[in-house]
Amino acid sequence: MKRPLVIVGSGPAGYTAAIYAARAGLEPLLIAGPEPGGQLTKTSEVENFPGYPEGVLGPQMMEELRKQAERFGTQVLYDVVEKVELRTHPKRLWTLGGEEIQAEAVIVATGSSPRWLGLEAERRLYGAGVSACAVCDGYFFRGQPVAVVGGGDSACEEALYLSKLCSQVHLLVRRDQMRASQIMQARVKANPNIHIHWNVVVEDILGEKFVEGVRLRHTRTGEVSELAVRAVFVAIGHQPNTAIFAGQLELDDQGYILTQPKSTRTNLEGVFAAGDVQDPVYRQAVTAAGSGCMAALDAERWLSEKAYLLSSRASSSS
Ligand code: NDP
Repeated sequence: MKRPLVIVGSGPAGYTAAIYAARAGLEPLLIAGPEPGGQLTKTSEVENFPGYPEGVLGPQMMEELRKQAERFGTQVLYDVVEKVELRTHPKRLWTLGGEEIQAEAVIVATGSSPRWLGLEAERRLYGAGVSACAVCDGYFFRGQPVAVVGGGDSACEEALYLSKLCSQVHLLVRRDQMRASQIMQARVKANPNIHIHWNVVVEDILGEKFVEGVRLRHTRTGEVSELAVRAVFVAIGHQPNTAIFAGQLELDDQGYILTQPKSTRTNLEGVFAAGDVQDPVYRQAVTAAGSGCMAALDAERWLSEKAYLLSSRASSSS
């Protein structure tokens, strides 16, 4: 299969790039990846995307973006890219489903994934009380005490969601202040069902077959304590999904793709990056969508220039 443009990733950046590229006649192929729709399919209400005064459910928004991209001729392939060769022309991508796809230009919009604490217990008890998604797993722990780790907007969002289901939510914050926006902090602090523990780190998650509690260490006093909870929701930020691009695309020390200033161009000709995969700072659905638009415009211009160069070379050699 050969395409002018392949977009890797199906979050707001990927779909927005697809809408613009399809409307420009580039017939993009969008490879959806392991989580079609991306991180927003794991959230509940999105309240800050412009144009939705009453808010919108994350999965619904992604469904609408997909339909909008398909309406203009985007082909969505439900597969996962496992290997790429982006330094050659044409660029080549191989999928888990056994496809080999060639592309003139590629937009990388693979987003980021939840970070974990790095405890052995997280692996052992994943799916047995350890989770990074309250909307997905909170229901299993209704009426029971749970913990949320983190002090950012994600942690607050998870805690607020769980406060409606669970008997008590313990929010475990490692400093004496949160990173979350003021409005989210205010909601969490005003919620009688959320108990904030300041200056604590999770030393271990307890339980053999399912979560029974957490062991905490107070960062100032050193005091170690245990808290009985039936689930631990880890919400400590994200890491960019760039493993398959390492060694080809230039990455920063955290693994985010480096793009040229005021553009989505990467270090490789014809390869563009959009959304969370290249944005350690803003990481919002709306900024991801904006950079998806930029990537499609950059790719379209690059492809036009290239076609112009090819045709002018052909005419000067004839
Ligand atoms: P952030 O990076 O903003 O916050 C991560 C939080 O986890 C921080 O409080 C950090 O602590 C803490 N943390 C990191 N590592 C550890 C660790 N090992 N142990 C304990 N705590 C740890 O990530 P988020 O996912 O919360 O948010 C990412 C972006 O998405 C932000 O821009 C946010 O505004 C946005 N967002 C917006 C939402 C909304 O508006 N509705 C909802 C969700 C996210 P420390 O501060 O000490 O580093």
